[in-house]
Amino acid sequence: MRRTVFNEDHEAFRETLRAFIEAEVVPVFDDWFQAGIVPREFYYKLAELGVFGINVDEEYGGAGLETHKFEAIQYEETARAGVNFGGSGVHVLLALPYIKMLATEDQKKRWLPKFVSAEEMWAIAMTEPGTGSDLAGMKTTAKLSEDGTHYVLNGAKTFITGGVHADRVIVCARTAPATPEDRRHGISLFAVDTKSEGYSIGRKLDKLGLRTSDTAELAFVDVKVPAEDLMGEENKGFYYLGKNLASERWGIAFGAYAQAKAAVEFAKKYTQDRTVFGQPVAAFQNTKFELAACKAEVDAAEAVADRALEALDAGELTAAEAASAKLFCTEVAHRVIDRCLQLHGGYGYMNEYPIARLYADNRVNRIYGGTSEIMKTIIAKDMGL
Ligand SMILES: Cc1cc2nc3c(=O)[nH]c(=O)nc-3n(C[C@H](O)[C@H](O)[C@H](O)COP(=O)(O)OP(=O)(O)OC[C@H]3O[C@@H](n4cnc5c(N)ncnc54)[C@H](O)[C@@H]3O)c2cc1C
Repeated sequence: MRRTVFNEDHEAFRETLRAFIEAEVVPVFDDWFQAGIVPREFYYKLAELGVFGINVDEEYGGAGLETHKFEAIQYEETARAGVNFGGSGVHVLLALPYIKMLATEDQKKRWLPKFVSAEEMWAIAMTEPGTGSDLAGMKTTAKLSEDGTHYVLNGAKTFITGGVHADRVIVCARTAPATPEDRRHGISLFAVDTKSEGYSIGRKLDKLGLRTSDTAELAFVDVKVPAEDLMGEENKGFYYLGKNLASERWGIAFGAYAQAKAAVEFAKKYTQDRTVFGQPVAAFQNTKFELAACKAEVDAAEAVADRALEALDAGELTAAEAASAKLFCTEVAHRVIDRCLQLHGGYGYMNEYPIARLYADNRVNRIYGGTSEIMKTIIAKDMGL
């Protein structure tokens, strides 16, 4: 089916990005994979390419657009090349919507130019060792000082993408106890400078997949956060999280669909090249049926991912629609990538083949940004169940 989401500008960006990935990422990606992290300097190259400023107003150094289509192309092109940009995805996909929604003029002036130039990389810290799906149960606290100049932050976070390289982290913390009527009351968001005294990075976590992404534990011991780094209003954090989770979930849905699409191409090529019993693996009817079935699933996921993208750009993607897109696209990707790996035989299990990395990378899509089970609870609630 003809796709209608991308115009000539988007396709020109795709060409530029494809050439950039070929030149700057493919030759060094194995080194990043072995090191388990993308070098910090690489983010300056992404900044030069302009990818951090697409949705930032021109007065702060950005391109002044309002669209997620260029991010979508990044998902497709990195998956196609069998690479990724490490933990930098959270900088734009997760952090920027909060800055745009909540930052005052003064905060925008302080934060956005450095955001665009990669001088300050951002991450977001919601999850804690004791609570992930149930965010209202978070224990990290931020107490306003008596003179009102700063908050004192104490607690711990875990699984924070970009946590090693981040220069500023949006930390969710309790500024007031939950009320009996509303467990979600009392959470606030802070843009914490990671150089602050008392802020420390714990382990860089050793993961099944997304090996180049710097996922870390964070700890805060009496960290002084200036009052001017509070984002939005005190105690309204949960409301803000609810507003932005739809775009995060769209990103995961689109990324998963792009991985599934790439997996089919990898499997098609591999099975055409590989000879077994005197014929290419692609010549077996089973291979054709498997690839055809995978292609049909990918086409359906593409339609959902594209439609969710249009709705997101129009400001219309609801929480339930985003949950539905995430659930569908990530479950499709799970099935498709597994079947495509099977068609590679033993080589599919080797990390030197992109399908093996995709298989491991994709697994987390059904977990982070809210698990598939949580997506189902959101959809069911929207159905009035
Ligand atoms: C690689 C990676 C990167 C991440 N990056 C970030 C990040 O940058 N920032 C951040 O804040 N967090 C991040 N996370 C955390 C992620 O969002 C959480 O892991 C996720 O929300 C699940 O929380 P949990 O791990 O505590 O699982 P739990 O909440 O303990 O869930 C355990 C199981 O219980 C199920 N469950 C929970 N509640 C229900 C329910 N109501 N009904 C039915 N089943 C339920 C879950 O679906 C799951 O199967 C990341 C995680 C990973 C693995």
